[in-house]
Amino acid sequence: HVRVRFAPSPTGYLHVGGARTALYNYLFAKKNKGEFILRIEDTDEARSTEESLRGVVDDLVWLNLLWNEGVDPVTLKDQGPLGPYRQSERLDIYKEVAETLLKQGKAYYCFMTEEEIEKQREEGKAAGTFAHLNSPYQDWSLEKALEHLKAGNKAVVRFKTKGLAKDYIFNDLVRGEVKFPSDMVGDFVLLRSGNMPVYNFCCVVDDHLMKITHVFRAEEHLPNTLRQLMIYEAMGWQTPEFGHMALILDEDRQKLSKRKGAVACGILKEEGYLNSAILNFIALLGWSHPEGKEIMTVDDMIQAFDISRLNPSGAIFDRVKFKWMNAMHLRALPNAELWQQIQPFLAREKMELPQDPAWQDRSLNLFKPYMETLVDAIELYKPLNDKSYVILPEAEETLKWESTKAVLATWRDLIAAHPSDYLTEEEFLKFQDEVKNKTGAKGKNLFMPIRVAVIGKPHGAELKILVPLIKKQSLVARAQQALA
Ligand code: GLU
Repeated sequence: HVRVRFAPSPTGYLHVGGARTALYNYLFAKKNKGEFILRIEDTDEARSTEESLRGVVDDLVWLNLLWNEGVDPVTLKDQGPLGPYRQSERLDIYKEVAETLLKQGKAYYCFMTEEEIEKQREEGKAAGTFAHLNSPYQDWSLEKALEHLKAGNKAVVRFKTKGLAKDYIFNDLVRGEVKFPSDMVGDFVLLRSGNMPVYNFCCVVDDHLMKITHVFRAEEHLPNTLRQLMIYEAMGWQTPEFGHMALILDEDRQKLSKRKGAVACGILKEEGYLNSAILNFIALLGWSHPEGKEIMTVDDMIQAFDISRLNPSGAIFDRVKFKWMNAMHLRALPNAELWQQIQPFLAREKMELPQDPAWQDRSLNLFKPYMETLVDAIELYKPLNDKSYVILPEAEETLKWESTKAVLATWRDLIAAHPSDYLTEEEFLKFQDEVKNKTGAKGKNLFMPIRVAVIGKPHGAELKILVPLIKKQSLVARAQQALA
């Protein structure tokens, strides 16, 4: 029975790499009718914040990557049978496991100070003999160490690697066979002084107790896997399967960073990316559909998800493609839904637009082909908002032409006499012809003044798209303003 987890450390925001890890785990769980668990790795007290956890949880909810066990998405309280799911609430559990290892002589209290460790490293390096820390405490009996502790000395608990002279081999689900020589690591810390456990230790204890079957995570954790395998072995626990996903790279093949553009899911949301487009895009950073399908819903992905198609080489975060994909998702939305989606963006500009669903539908039919992100709605809708109509300085010249006054007045009168609330595109073109016939103005002398009377400037925007979306009275008022 498949159980997977996403285990964020709440020390920052959810970025696309984290979202991809969450997505792959989610898809694998859904595909196999298993469970997806959200575990909070918050043992770094100095860097973990409740605010970050709130943000990560909200982003996961927004992305619709909902979990079966973990913390409640609203209250952030524990939820599920194998909790607690916040590591900060599991300290007693780690302590108990550490005690088991201590009793079995597989871990030891190490009283070396930072200075002593540093000194050993420096001297060893100078002599060319340094490989790993060689703690004088590794062979102390537990009794002796406990007495030393009682006397007020500070210690960390270290895992003892002595005697584990073999290669560690495992079959990575993404990369195939991975081989680590055991002497790659020295005695590593399990509990810091003060009993705060470290990531590698918590991770093993939790994955075991939470009955995790598969671990999909970022490639940067590959070296940790050796330490984790050693702990599993020492505890006699069965290891889960591991799959380490390739790095996500910028266009210049550097590790993805925010210098090239947003990487935080929250910022991409503000930039007008749809959750469905983000999921589609990151799904393809390291995985591909068996038929090469590019535009997919999450259901499509669940259907097709197959870990044999996970790609071990770095994936490029192509922002041009991302925008294109967003446009595809956006245009596939029913208008009523797209209208809802653009509301927060239009609200930023405090726009007042018609409440009439038929008008909204009509406007979206016209604007959709020009929208790549939801933010694009702002510039598209602005000319339709009466409060944004201003005559810009660049219109002054046009307004001074000899024929302009006649053009504007004729235009105004024609619309004012029009019987319905809106002009159709054909009616607009017909009126434009009539203005031409009545005033003799043509070319730019005709088009530019009318444009000023609709959008406040002589260039830009297709009038035959805009005019049919502006109420007759508003068109008259704007023409009047241009004439004044
Ligand atoms: N807290 C770790 C991270 O955010 C989780 C690593 C893992 O999945 O084991 O990178």
